[in-house]
Amino acid sequence: VVNPLLAWTSRRRREECHLSFELTPGPEPQPAAPRTPAPQVTHVVEVAVPRPLFGTFSYSLSAEQAQSLRPGQAIQVKFGRKLTHAYVASSPIPVTDYRGSLEPEKLKAIEAVEPIVLPADLLDLGQWAAKYYHAPLGEVFQAMLPAAAMGLRSQKKQPRAIERKVFEPTPIELSSAQQRAFHGIRDAKQSTALLHGVTGSGKTEIYLMLIREQLKAGRSVVLMVPEIALTPQLHRRLEAGIGETVAMWHSALADGKRRDLWHAMHEGKIRVAVGARSAVFVPLKQVGLIIVDEEHEATYKQEERFRYHARDLALVRAKSAGAKVVLGSATPCLETLEAARTGKYYWSKLTERYSKRPLPRIETVQMNQAKVRHEAGIPVADAVIKSVRETLERGEQVLLFLNRRGFANFLQCDDCGEVVECSQCSVSMTVHHGGKHLKCHLCGEQRPAPSTCPSCKSYELKVSGGGTERLEEALPNWISNAKVVRLDRDQVTSTKRLEEILGSFRAGESNVLIGTQMLVKGHDFSGVTLVVVVNADSLFHWPDFRAPERALQTLTQVAGRAGRGEKPGRVMIQTRQPDHAVIQVLQSKLSIDDFLNEERSLRQELQYPPFGRLIRLRVDSAHRDDSRKPLEFVRDQLEAQLGGRIQVLGPSEAVVERIKNVYRWDLILKSTDLASLHQAARMARDWAVRHKVELSVDVDPQSMG
Ligand code: ADP
Ligand code: ZN
Ligand code: ZN
Repeated sequence: VVNPLLAWTSRRRREECHLSFELTPGPEPQPAAPRTPAPQVTHVVEVAVPRPLFGTFSYSLSAEQAQSLRPGQAIQVKFGRKLTHAYVASSPIPVTDYRGSLEPEKLKAIEAVEPIVLPADLLDLGQWAAKYYHAPLGEVFQAMLPAAAMGLRSQKKQPRAIERKVFEPTPIELSSAQQRAFHGIRDAKQSTALLHGVTGSGKTEIYLMLIREQLKAGRSVVLMVPEIALTPQLHRRLEAGIGETVAMWHSALADGKRRDLWHAMHEGKIRVAVGARSAVFVPLKQVGLIIVDEEHEATYKQEERFRYHARDLALVRAKSAGAKVVLGSATPCLETLEAARTGKYYWSKLTERYSKRPLPRIETVQMNQAKVRHEAGIPVADAVIKSVRETLERGEQVLLFLNRRGFANFLQCDDCGEVVECSQCSVSMTVHHGGKHLKCHLCGEQRPAPSTCPSCKSYELKVSGGGTERLEEALPNWISNAKVVRLDRDQVTSTKRLEEILGSFRAGESNVLIGTQMLVKGHDFSGVTLVVVVNADSLFHWPDFRAPERALQTLTQVAGRAGRGEKPGRVMIQTRQPDHAVIQVLQSKLSIDDFLNEERSLRQELQYPPFGRLIRLRVDSAHRDDSRKPLEFVRDQLEAQLGGRIQVLGPSEAVVERIKNVYRWDLILKSTDLASLHQAARMARDWAVRHKVELSVDVDPQSMG
């Protein structure tokens, strides 16, 4: 039997020893009065630290701490020499059961215990997600319970009570088609439903009715939307439609607000939350329904660090909570369609717009035959300008959609063809301010435009390509009554700015809205009767097996912005490929079913999702070879050990090979055998840790670049 006092003194000495490593040693430790000995180490607990490191870390506990600590509890610990928030990952175990390499007495103690614990369902979800996505548990828990939600980022840890308003909701009257969809989903035996409704069919109204039902039954609801940019408008519509306070949850929330909302949801004071992908982690109680609006959107995938797919996690969370999931879309992804086709999901279809408003008429403008103008850097047909002018003369509004990818302005030498690139990334720099300024959209590098070609020193540097900015400049020259506003990442620096732009357009202060991807995400402008897709072809040439599917989704969404009000809509698509299958589908010359069947059989043949699964391994390195070679080694190892069960493709460079001077090479693992796929990823990961290679794992990657 160890003399407790001796054990205590020896631990004390070790602490002193530890202190001597600190940069600024604290005051000389005072021997405690014998009556109040320091708490003795009786237990050990595993702690998840929010760092990009795998595994959990052991810390020592006193008996008292062991009694009160629960898995999922927020704590503070010293990690290395830094104090950090962290999470209890397991139930404490007695020291006698501890099998770690260090003596329990040598483990660090916990610095502070926070009065906040991850709810059990999120704890389970987090543990599952960390395994499935090969993500560090601490980073997963951090996504669920951010330091800001703990109050650690605010001066006051204590949350302020959120005032919960309850009021009479605005009445909703569903059309008979909506009624049928609502009842079908509500009464379906499947726990997941696909609400497959054309743009303007009124999916939101159905969501509202489903939410009301859940609230009546005493359960809470999460509504997920693809973009924060969309939520302000939706938030108001939601609160009005259900008659109580709705939490708006997104990455731009102020810290104090995040803390207050987290607690209000956790205590059951708020029962509905709307937000982008991180809303899948809100601590609502008794979740009865999770709605994923525009379920096909790529923004549901988190593309860095903890790479999760919010739609897929919604399905996992709902399953363990006994909740329903409704996936809404006009153009569901093939994975979802396949589950609906096989009856795994209930499939509800709305084929008409609300109140029989016609779907817009879709025309192509064949750019290889049309008379075009080039002043905007990107060709615009005379026929389009004429239509825009006529639309504006009738007092109606116009949307111009320009896909940014590859179509920003860049500087090109007329003599040697050289394009001015970012010094740190393998992409061309974008020209701003009428050619005076260059900016890299990947790393943010900015510099004045050079006056001579960096390669041949010629003075013939010309602005090429066409961005939204040049189109904005050119349009009023062509059409005198055009009042143009622009909606893209450069313009929209805050939610407030976005609301200003959208508000002024809605109010009719401007009559043309030019935008990139952002404007397609569900905005409802009743004055818009003409939508122009300035360059459809750029959507077709993306090196990704999902490119046709994505192109159809984007163009359907863009087209869907036309004619949502009283007057019918019209869409003009500028293209050199009017026979492309996607355009044929949009014009109803090819049936959507035929198109999807074709895509489906291609995927089946090549074992792409949903028929096979993918994991991408990526190595980042400052040197090209250090990025490629480790992957060659990993490939050989995996092929030798798992060759019959998985396919290994690559290594190949990412579509953008270099960002901020870091090279990126990929290996794609493909298989129908999910267990082997995960085993391969684990093997690669372990190997990378041992060899100090920076390797990241992306499970179910959504973009192949
Ligand atoms: P979706 O999300 O399917 O594209 P929305 O939900 O935005 O469509 O609805 C399209 C338009 O029709 C909106 O202006 C909406 O207010 C209107 N609408 C849809 N359903 C109803 C309804 N039952 N009662 C009144 N207006 C409706
Ligand atoms: Zn040159
Ligand atoms: Zn750059």
